[in-house]
Amino acid sequence: MSKSHRDHKIVIIGAGASGVACATKLLEYGFQNVLIVEAESRLGGRIHTIPFGENVIDLGAQWCHGEQDNIVYELASQHDLLESTGPVYENYQCVRSNREVLPDNVASRLKAIVGDSLVTRQLELQHCSGSLGSYLSSKFYEMLRRPENADIDPVVAGEFFDNYQKFENSVEASDTLEEVSGRGYLDYWECEGDILLNWKDKGFVELLRLLTRSRELQTSSDLGILEQRVLFNRRVTKINWNRNDARVELQLNNGESCVADHVIVTVSLGVLKEQHLQLFEPQLPVAKQRAIQGLAFGTVNKLFVEFPAAFWPEDWTGFTLLWRQQDLADIRNTPLAWLEDVFGFYRVSYQPRVLAGWIINANGRHMESLQPAEVLAGCMYLFRRFLHWHIPEPLGFRSSAWYTNPYFRGSYSFRSMDTERLGTGASDLAQPLTVVAMTPPSPGRSKMLVPPQSRCDKPIVQFAGEASSEHYYSTVHGAVEAGWREAKRLADFYGLSVAPAKSQL
Ligand SMILES: Cc1cc2nc3c(=O)[nH]c(=O)nc-3n(C[C@H](O)[C@H](O)[C@H](O)COP(=O)(O)OP(=O)(O)OC[C@H]3O[C@@H](n4cnc5c(N)ncnc54)[C@H](O)[C@@H]3O)c2cc1C
Repeated sequence: MSKSHRDHKIVIIGAGASGVACATKLLEYGFQNVLIVEAESRLGGRIHTIPFGENVIDLGAQWCHGEQDNIVYELASQHDLLESTGPVYENYQCVRSNREVLPDNVASRLKAIVGDSLVTRQLELQHCSGSLGSYLSSKFYEMLRRPENADIDPVVAGEFFDNYQKFENSVEASDTLEEVSGRGYLDYWECEGDILLNWKDKGFVELLRLLTRSRELQTSSDLGILEQRVLFNRRVTKINWNRNDARVELQLNNGESCVADHVIVTVSLGVLKEQHLQLFEPQLPVAKQRAIQGLAFGTVNKLFVEFPAAFWPEDWTGFTLLWRQQDLADIRNTPLAWLEDVFGFYRVSYQPRVLAGWIINANGRHMESLQPAEVLAGCMYLFRRFLHWHIPEPLGFRSSAWYTNPYFRGSYSFRSMDTERLGTGASDLAQPLTVVAMTPPSPGRSKMLVPPQSRCDKPIVQFAGEASSEHYYSTVHGAVEAGWREAKRLADFYGLSVAPAKSQL
């Protein structure tokens, strides 16, 4: 690589999975002048593993979803870092708000109804112009009407379906399934294989150690090959991409500024939605603004409760909360109303005394505004309201707050009815901002062989991050893939089409 290529200054905004993957890949391509600017004081973004209970918990990403064509799986499986979470999210009990546990034969048939629709929806949604919510609802009640299900109490079935919709909202990060595009749902490609692979006793942070090669060093503060290349606690406040010299100027919240040849933006779609009008100077092209507006971004949060000892039987994996309508009246219009959207608590791998709950939508966002003691008291109310065991006083509590944090503004992206209406998608978000330039001379060739230079589009501001992934959005493998995609875009621009062999981790 010629010196000029190697020394081009590349600044990546955000040290989440996408930014870290992009930076480490650029270094593998041979680029030397690579810097990440990160608003938080840590690496990882929506990967956030913290000590808790007897081990660690993940406040954000937790599982590697699938094996085939999954970059994260490919990296982790070489080191035997993953294992199946098992049937925790299949064998849960369905418990009503009067503590009645649905009999196995009813619960298993209701689970089968929604499970079957998982298969058929892949075919049927192709022709769907409506929402995922209306499709799932008609499907569920159609299957419920079949003679073999005639004995299921429709009231209980309705409670089950209410709960199931909350679960689906947690998969999408939507507030309601009516927001989710039925056809757009198929944009997401599920990787074949086990979709709930956990990182044993290590947490998802282990992926960052793999990417930065700091794994051998084993101290949590080690940045591996990113040492000296990350500016922490620095927020980019302005991206000026219209300079005469075809470079990009960044202003930081501490008053500093820097000029780069290339900038790669990996901040969440939530941050872009809230800040793009102030962040970019001049404003982004219309198609990009439409993508930011049309792609959807929502909130899912987790609630971890640690007990002095497990109060549940060994084979119990958790429970979902089926509210009876008359019991909901007890909490609606009270300070406990937010609890309606906590949809289940489940066992956590390598944490024998911990239960993890999930909460969605506006109530999940409201939860973030409450004091931890109040949130924990709410969780204890649910345990004592739904479970018939004696529930001991908790030892520890931690919840996530992805919406309130100005560096995230939510949890992950999905395809909404607005995405359809605006006719936009991930490729519009991924499209780089370019300037017209002369083709850079190809490295490693004698001058005699270099073809005459011609005019080309030089990417100066690029976009990565999970939301820019065409088919793996909302995941870490999508974020990593997007980071690598943008590293390759630059390598291609400078004629470095093949990454060196050492890139095979
Ligand atoms: C609760 C939850 C559960 C999840 N579960 C899973 C799961 O099990 N499996 C899975 O694959 N995925 C899961 N995900 C999704 C996954 O975490 C994300 O898709 C992925 O981590 C996103 O990475 P990213 O690099 O695109 O964005 P981010 O991780 O958001 O990184 C962007 C970075 O930019 C920084 N930043 C923002 N603004 C600025 C600024 N102005 N200046 C400088 N820096 C800035 C942020 O601090 C952040 O570090 C989950 C997410 C959440 C929230």
